[in-house]
Amino acid sequence: SAYCELRNVTRVYPGNAGQPALHALGPINLELEAGKFYSVVGPSGCGKSTLLEVIAGLAPASDGEVIINGRPIHGEVADGVGVVFQDDASFPWLTVRDNIAFGLRRQGVDETTIARKVDDAIRLMGLNGFDNAYPAQLSGGMRQRVCIARTLMLEPQLILLDEPFGALDQQTRLLMGDELLNLWRETNATVLLITHALDEATMLSDKVCVMSARPGILLDTVETGWPRD
Ligand code: ADP
Ligand code: ADP
Repeated sequence: SAYCELRNVTRVYPGNAGQPALHALGPINLELEAGKFYSVVGPSGCGKSTLLEVIAGLAPASDGEVIINGRPIHGEVADGVGVVFQDDASFPWLTVRDNIAFGLRRQGVDETTIARKVDDAIRLMGLNGFDNAYPAQLSGGMRQRVCIARTLMLEPQLILLDEPFGALDQQTRLLMGDELLNLWRETNATVLLITHALDEATMLSDKVCVMSARPGILLDTVETGWPRD
């Protein structure tokens, strides 16, 4: 069954000063099956980030419907959706522990539970010994792992990642891809990964959504055929 469905979704940026409006998206029809790992590839400017923002509820669709877990969203972040961005979004004024605990604290979860979950996440993400470090003391790859941990803490059913490894060197990128795959295998989450790297998409995902150079057009969704148990 589909965890997320887009029906005739468009996003139009109105033109300023006599410029024509820009159809950054669609109309797009897309179904994300629950528990599957999807990638979206396409050249720069084709609308990948816009697609993610619309699914995340960070930008409203101009037309059409985004349905998440059976409920149409109206430009708000749906329950159970977690987002990881390309740019390092860690909070520089908080330690690794407090960055990872941020969402749980906002939800009012008790500190004993938070401590246990954060310990697990630190171990899982290979951040042992850096509990009380600040982001500035970490490498780019480690900061991105902090951001991924902070999102995963909330146990999202749909994880949206916008070029999360874009700023990393090739070797770190491959390691992080593997880690993401391992994390996904431990959950039943649906993943949508935006990347400009076709090799990353084909290596990680069940299905690759290919967008065209003409903005907003979804050309096809291709199965990679990786065996999954
Ligand atoms: P991608 O992520 O594939 O690089 P984007 O979704 O960022 O593509 O952009 C799709 C198109 O929409 C591009 O032509 C971009 O210039 C345009 N665009 C993105 N954001 C805005 C905005 N806030 N206002 C106007 N145009 C925008
Ligand atoms: P394999 O190692 O399984 O042969 P590759 O990684 O070489 O797969 O990629 C297969 C195809 O995709 C090749 O035609 C390659 O040129 C193309 N390709 C790989 N990575 C990229 C990329 N980042 N951008 C565009 N095309 C790519």
